[in-house]
Amino acid sequence: MIGVWYCERHLIRPPEHPVPNPLTALRSALGDAVLAPDDPRYPAFRTGLFTPLAAAARPACVVQPEDATQVATAVRIARDSGCAVTTRGGGLSTICSATDAVVIDMKARMGGGRLIGDKARMGGGATMGQALAVLAPAGRVVPIGSVPIAGMGLATQGGFGHLTRSHGLTLDHLVEVELVTADGEIRTLSDASTGSEAELWWAVRGATPPFGVVTAATFRSHMAPVGLTVIRSVSTVEAFTEFTAWANDLPEDVCASCTLVTPTGATGPVLFAYVVAPTAAADRVRNALDAACGAPTWQESVALNYSAQPAFDPPGTGEPIAGPIWCAEKCPLLGRVSPEVAVRIVGLMRSAPSHLCRIDFQHAGGVMSRIATEATAFAGRRALWNVPIIGAWAGSGDSPVAPACGRWVSDVWVALDACIVGAYSTEIRPGLPETSREVALAFGPNLPRLGAIKRLWDPTNVFRHSYPLEVVAK
Ligand SMILES: Cc1cc2nc3c(=O)[nH]c(=O)nc-3n(C[C@H](O)[C@H](O)[C@H](O)COP(=O)(O)OP(=O)(O)OC[C@H]3O[C@@H](n4cnc5c(N)ncnc54)[C@H](O)[C@@H]3O)c2cc1C
Repeated sequence: MIGVWYCERHLIRPPEHPVPNPLTALRSALGDAVLAPDDPRYPAFRTGLFTPLAAAARPACVVQPEDATQVATAVRIARDSGCAVTTRGGGLSTICSATDAVVIDMKARMGGGRLIGDKARMGGGATMGQALAVLAPAGRVVPIGSVPIAGMGLATQGGFGHLTRSHGLTLDHLVEVELVTADGEIRTLSDASTGSEAELWWAVRGATPPFGVVTAATFRSHMAPVGLTVIRSVSTVEAFTEFTAWANDLPEDVCASCTLVTPTGATGPVLFAYVVAPTAAADRVRNALDAACGAPTWQESVALNYSAQPAFDPPGTGEPIAGPIWCAEKCPLLGRVSPEVAVRIVGLMRSAPSHLCRIDFQHAGGVMSRIATEATAFAGRRALWNVPIIGAWAGSGDSPVAPACGRWVSDVWVALDACIVGAYSTEIRPGLPETSREVALAFGPNLPRLGAIKRLWDPTNVFRHSYPLEVVAK
């Protein structure tokens, strides 16, 4: 059983010991940029977070800085008081806010960016959609994930999307990062960094949250791809076995992702495939998809305009749902999916405890995998699939269906076990029974080096609400 619900209790229970609160010092240094719990902007910050679990946290205060100097001041004051710091970027994860921490809300006033030559220089609170918008007038793109609202958490920890196989991960496009470290200094990191800062530059490309606050990031870019088609197709969920058998061996200019999901009003789950392919090959790819999966119950092919920030929701799943959507989530990285494993996954989809449970299979490999595992902290280079397992339900966090959704996520993980080659760090939470195992999976052979860099750059663990980086003996 995964421990996400222990964590929720941990988030909302009252502290056992008095915790330091640097509110007064922050207020006198940063004035109006600091939101205390009695500030009307404080609840607005919490409700603006994507997940109810993050919104349930009660930070000591929220700082909405307007520049890197204010971020550095906030980190220094929090550190001196013994208070933890955590960062909100796009706000999509469950770990961008924490009870009793100083939360630095980068999105509030440090988003946006500008074009510098063929590069995008983005603020630390920018979204990936904003990066595409900055590059669009130059006819250029950076590969992003499947939604434009994700922020630096995606860009600095991975970034799987429709161009991963043909162009690489978002993080492989970082050429410079401005980072406020735990000592409250502003550092510029790039290939030109030397000594211990070169180590930090290596670490932030895959594992930024435990090391500091990104206040700006520069991305290299590509000419916007032309002549791409996206084929969206709905089939019976049983076709998942044939789909993976087909997709495991595709050339890297084809990105064949899918979601196992139950459309609104449907009686059971379906396979929703979204396949990006060169337009010249689109008919051939669609025929091969149909030959593998059988006649689709719905299908559509359209030209892909990547700069327009496409997001491909399965048809019938976009309707608003009353109340917050809670979820237990894990994100393993897989190699080839075997037919035996695929059959088990179909069975688990059919027995999911909530119709909001879904599993995404984002196609990876290709260009991403040509970079050495040790080249950056991101260690999931061998992965062919990024697989968010989402045990979701509507209503309240302590709904009777919550434990069943947690168990279901755990069961899916176990069913996938034979194919797991890593983990995506974005949903690893500190303090759970499985945390160390997931950290070891996410960073693999890079973990000892990351641990050494953490001890050097954040010896008092100011950024302790992120995943721990110590090596745990087996
Ligand atoms: C609807 C949805 C769709 C998604 N689709 C994809 C996808 O297609 N591809 C993919 O790869 N991932 C995807 N993800 C996962 C996503 O990449 C992670 O949730 C990621 O952590 C989001 O980053 P964020 O900045 O938006 O969120 P946040 O919750 O703000 O941040 C996530 C983590 O990064 C840290 N962080 C954020 N900004 C900074 C900063 N400026 N400096 C230092 N640390 C920072 C936070 O402290 C936190 O630990 C998706 C998630 C959701 C909810």
